Amino acid sequence: MVPDAEMNDDGSMLNDDAVILATRGATHQPALTGCPWHDVNEMLQAAGLRPTRQRMALGWLLFGKGARHLTAEMLYEEATLAKVPVSLATVYNTLNQLTDAGLLRQVSVDGTKTYFDTNVSAHHHFYLENNHELVDIPDPHLMLQKMPEVPEGYEIARVDMVVRLRKKR
Ligand SMILES: [Zn+2]
Repeated sequence: MVPDAEMNDDGSMLNDDAVILATRGATHQPALTGCPWHDVNEMLQAAGLRPTRQRMALGWLLFGKGARHLTAEMLYEEATLAKVPVSLATVYNTLNQLTDAGLLRQVSVDGTKTYFDTNVSAHHHFYLENNHELVDIPDPHLMLQKMPEVPEGYEIARVDMVVRLRKKR
């Protein structure tokens, strides 16, 4: 028996994809329902990236929890815990693609650690050395007192400020 909900107005059955779309949000994928999933799809499409299964899953982990700062290793660990079958190399590639598409911003600390920031608006960071954590500085107007002179033919694209903090002894 086919329930009425899965019939078109003319009585024909919907195709499989349509049924999956129609039932998403009900019982089939409880972990992946709601706005974040929809938003990630829209986000990828708007950035010209095909919403593949892996991009959707990683995007959902990245963007589904508000503003975050993650390294590739941190995201890989989250993906593994969420049973998303991806390799660390795929995580790196996806993060770089999302960055190139303007959906993420890279913040390098130490030259060895690269964080990916889901907040791409202009802001600066505190780096908590003790816990290797990157935190937004709430004041967006924090500026260098005097901008350096730039070489002929160049302009300042962005100023990334990382204020390193350590616990007082
Ligand atoms: Zn940030």
